[in-house]
Amino acid sequence: RLPLPAEIYEPLRGNSMGVEFGDRAALAALLAEIEAARGRSEARPESSAAKPSRPVVSPIDGAAIGEVIECDDVAARDAMASAARAFAGWNATPVETRARILERAADLLEARRGVFLALLQSEAGKTLDDALAEVREAADMCRYYANQARLVCREARLPGPTGEDNRLRYEGRGVFVCISPWNFPLAIFLGQVVAALVTGNAAVAKPAEQTPLIAARAVALLHEAGVPRAALRLAPGAGDVGAALVDDPHTAGVVFTGSVEVAQQINRALAAREGALAPLIAETGGVNAMIVDSTALIEQVVDDVLASAFRSAGQRCSALRLLCLQHDIAPAAIETLIGAAKELRIGDPRMLGVHVGPVIDAAAKEKLDRYVARARAEGRLLYAGEAPSAGTFVAPAIIRLDRAADLREEVFGPVLHITTWRAGAFEALVEEIQAGGYGLTFGLETRIGERIEEAARRAPAGNIYVNRNMIGAIVGSQPFGGFGLSGTGPKAGGPDYLRRFVRETTVTINT
Ligand code: GLU
Repeated sequence: RLPLPAEIYEPLRGNSMGVEFGDRAALAALLAEIEAARGRSEARPESSAAKPSRPVVSPIDGAAIGEVIECDDVAARDAMASAARAFAGWNATPVETRARILERAADLLEARRGVFLALLQSEAGKTLDDALAEVREAADMCRYYANQARLVCREARLPGPTGEDNRLRYEGRGVFVCISPWNFPLAIFLGQVVAALVTGNAAVAKPAEQTPLIAARAVALLHEAGVPRAALRLAPGAGDVGAALVDDPHTAGVVFTGSVEVAQQINRALAAREGALAPLIAETGGVNAMIVDSTALIEQVVDDVLASAFRSAGQRCSALRLLCLQHDIAPAAIETLIGAAKELRIGDPRMLGVHVGPVIDAAAKEKLDRYVARARAEGRLLYAGEAPSAGTFVAPAIIRLDRAADLREEVFGPVLHITTWRAGAFEALVEEIQAGGYGLTFGLETRIGERIEEAARRAPAGNIYVNRNMIGAIVGSQPFGGFGLSGTGPKAGGPDYLRRFVRETTVTINT
């Protein structure tokens, strides 16, 4: 049993799925539910794959929490062929039936939240409030896309000359390959898959190699909700499996969330294929900046920066990477920020009151540690906390930069860069950020109304946040996704997302 902290537990800015963290009885019941759901899990493709099983380990302590059997080429082809055979039947299923299946899946997800919360913690290293927010988001995706499908996938009658009947019909394209990341192993995994399914496509889902267990549970849940087994197949594995799926002749579209390099590889692979053309929907990273001017409220800035940069151990593509402080407030802001960063608790995310859990694996930790060590050697490290020595923890770090242009790579972890700017340089700073080529999230903290309006019009990002943190976009309220190096659009959780998954047919009949 996990100990309850003496003080009331306050998530940084939680979305607590109706759980009132101040209500100790409800919280204790939730923790008991999670504890009861812990246990070993497994993930495997349906065909007899040749690869031997391997253990899946927790980033918290390296403990084996389950096993995965990854696809070999034969299993990958088999998943695609099975999905291709199931496509016609599923595509012919009325959209209302498909939408109801998604809604049932959302209900099941909430009813079984214990097992998903347990896995989000043990397999992905999430804190309880991050895990709750993710289950909430996953359920929201199911319900939102169910409703959107009802709007999108209905035949439209279009105006035309007298004597002609014009109709526009929407249906699935075929088999969608869904390749998802480990940082939202439930919400993004499910978001991709249900968007493909509800529009009539069959789907083959390749989860990140670090998080196959939760994906397997999500697939089982969708099958239980009514998705035909063959129409949705799980294809666990590493990048080679993703590449095999993309190259498969049955692939009618690819939806991908991950690094820009892999998105570019997929683009090239799709371009090199013979036969039908298949679209790519890619959501990648960002070198996300927040500009703070001297009218901003420092306490609010600090609160928002901590959440944006360090929540989820900075492992969100939306996370704040570059904080640009106006020169005259910088010393006070940095001092307050470091003071607040010292209060963050780093450790086992299953413990209430811990703010920063582990990074995903040893490779990620090594890369981040090396990056922070280099900044330290160069005299640019303003602050680094202390991380537990066991497990793959990286303590929050704050690094000084001379110019915004010095940061051009996405550092995917709890590492915040700070630069300063002088009055009169606001526009130049925005341009400098834009020149990096990414365009995912952007933050502004100011009390100048005109500046807010200007940033809303011109800031180089798909999601612009003013006077609040920059993470945790809400399905249906804050459609999420960027442009440039950050992705192709359309935005996940937005009204246009499903349109990219469908095939359109115009029928014109001379009556
Ligand atoms: N949608 C998430 C957010 O708004 C980020 C998704 C990601 O990291 O890929 O924080």
